[in-house]
Amino acid sequence: MWGIIATWRMALEGVTEAATQLAAGSGASASIVDAVAAVEDFPYYKSVGYGGLPTENGEVELDAAFMDGDTLAFGAVGNLIDIANPVRVAQALSRQRYNSLLVGQGAREWALEQGFAEKTMLTDRAMQHYRKRCRETLDKGLSPYDGHDTVGIIGLDKQGSMSVATSTSGLFMKKRGRIGDSPIMGSGFYCDSETGAATATGVGEDLMKGCTSYEIVRRMAGGMTPQQAADSVVFELEDKLMSRFGRAGDLSVVCMNRKGEFGAATNIKTFSFVVATEKQPLTVFRAERRAEKTHYQPVDDEWMQAYAARIRAPIEE
Ligand code: ASP
Repeated sequence: MWGIIATWRMALEGVTEAATQLAAGSGASASIVDAVAAVEDFPYYKSVGYGGLPTENGEVELDAAFMDGDTLAFGAVGNLIDIANPVRVAQALSRQRYNSLLVGQGAREWALEQGFAEKTMLTDRAMQHYRKRCRETLDKGLSPYDGHDTVGIIGLDKQGSMSVATSTSGLFMKKRGRIGDSPIMGSGFYCDSETGAATATGVGEDLMKGCTSYEIVRRMAGGMTPQQAADSVVFELEDKLMSRFGRAGDLSVVCMNRKGEFGAATNIKTFSFVVATEKQPLTVFRAERRAEKTHYQPVDDEWMQAYAARIRAPIEE
């Protein structure tokens, strides 16, 4: 059995290629890291890699992670500035015995020492979004933190190995130095080839409160199906946050077990995800919550066309 599942429609191009590789017998780690790197490279995805939206200071600080489910080795970077593919730096860090999670200047120096390519990650388009958002938030009192998403991809290969990788520019307008759940093991991602893997997207500050990805994997190990684990973790966390913290941010997850069965859960109106397995042809699904359960269905052509138009639409400044 092989399988791959990813957060958001933006993963589609990378997942398409990775699914072909996995079907041909490639390893999970290389396939998903290439898939995440493809999302990082695409300039119109404004919440990941090149073209990602900046901090309130107008700098693009990127977070990424990688975890190998066979060895439990992980690597992660936070607040990485102007390095082309944060996910590849994270994967390289997973091969180190120590210093698995590096942030800021230290992460950048290590990446440069290892020969990772420098690249100006702030684009004109991202700056247009930034100027627009500055005006909106100053003039109209809107929240500065909308417009964020993380690509998280889980792979299962024919050898039974699993791995997971994440990459994000984090919350738009975040403070310099802010780190969300995406590079934090257990919250933004977790993977154990003996059980399965999970990865999250949404408001990192809230996802971390539930150690969301670890909790999903733990429940799968306890016998839940991926869908049961995903729904129960997301909605219990939301309930807990509402009663104890007074509010709950966006929480969305995808997961897969070692048999290639998958699950997705969300507490927002529309969460898209991409999946392909030996049994499930490559599909983009649109998930929505109904009470304390997540329902999902394949997106139609109209949805795909609207998406393509939206990500390239001119930004009215
Ligand atoms: N979880 C990410 C963060 O908090 C953002 C997102 O996935 O929307 O940095």
